[in-house]
Amino acid sequence: MSGPNYISRRSRLLRTFKNAGIDALLISGESNVRYLTGFTGDSSWLYLSKTAKVVLSDSRYTTQIANECSGLDVDIRDARRPMSVAAADVVKKAKARRLGFEADHLTVTQHSALHARIESAELVSTSGLTERLREIKDKWELTQIREAIYQAERGIGVVRSSLRPDQTERDIRYTLEAAMRSFGATGPGFEPIVGVGPTGALPHAHAGDLLVSESPMLLIDWGAETRSGYRSDLTRVFVTGRVTKQMRTVYETVLKAQQKAIAAIKPGATCKAVDAMARKVIANAGFDKFFGHGLGHGFGLDIHESVRMSPISEQVLEPGMVVTVEPGIYLPGKFGVRIEDDILVTNTGHEVLTSVPREFDDAVVEFLA
Ligand code: ZN
Ligand code: ZN
Repeated sequence: MSGPNYISRRSRLLRTFKNAGIDALLISGESNVRYLTGFTGDSSWLYLSKTAKVVLSDSRYTTQIANECSGLDVDIRDARRPMSVAAADVVKKAKARRLGFEADHLTVTQHSALHARIESAELVSTSGLTERLREIKDKWELTQIREAIYQAERGIGVVRSSLRPDQTERDIRYTLEAAMRSFGATGPGFEPIVGVGPTGALPHAHAGDLLVSESPMLLIDWGAETRSGYRSDLTRVFVTGRVTKQMRTVYETVLKAQQKAIAAIKPGATCKAVDAMARKVIANAGFDKFFGHGLGHGFGLDIHESVRMSPISEQVLEPGMVVTVEPGIYLPGKFGVRIEDDILVTNTGHEVLTSVPREFDDAVVEFLA
């Protein structure tokens, strides 16, 4: 399998310039720079136009850029030359007239500095130009995402088989992160959420000191990051004791909502229509007040990427997109259930990339005596 084609990515981005009303773009979003150049460091920008492709960086990265980025000019600055001066020099030399910047990634301070130093070009605000390209994963990216899923799934297998009533949320997080690394991950794709009972009712809780034995419900939201920077994102709830009838009902409702939504994923479907499939199931069961977040999101180099699956998202699914589907019901002070899988939109429908079992009976953990 050959690697990513950065030249073709940059050409596709260049083709969006006319519509955006720009003749050059200053890319400062870290993941966007990585996507377009292969550079894995930080604090570096890419200047892109038809005639000039320049990585703006500093002396820490001289060797790394030479190794990682081919076919690009490089402007390495020293500590006395701020980024805005380096950028202004490149813009002047390349004779840009309408210079786009990434409104989602440039700080107000950086913008002011550029504005003060660039006289020859007009600064034009842009949003999502590279992010829209990143929505559709190419073949190589899909192999990376599958790898990130493999690392996450092997990792949770270790957690599950070593689960004990006297473990804390923090213990589990440590075991999980170490296990994913042992299967090749550079680390977790994001800070794993490990929540016993009431902690699981907080959709974005941190792992704390509760013991597994303190509730029959344990929620884990986790993923791995590959060496290439791609991520996975799953959630499972484990049943570690005797559950109430309400717990079982909530679990079955979330699972049904998730399966209905996944079934609706195909090219041409709007994100809000897919979201509505899950929301309807949860509302019919009387839990709509307890499902506040969107249904899911794209992911790849970042854990949250375009597209967004929410009740107000008009975005349309296309082959090659990879999204999470993660409905949840959170009963404050009691427990929360969220079930999250990673789905690829295919030419004819979808493929569920994740394979950790998700039925209620699969969630029941028997402790070793
Ligand atoms: Zn997640
Ligand atoms: Zn997610």
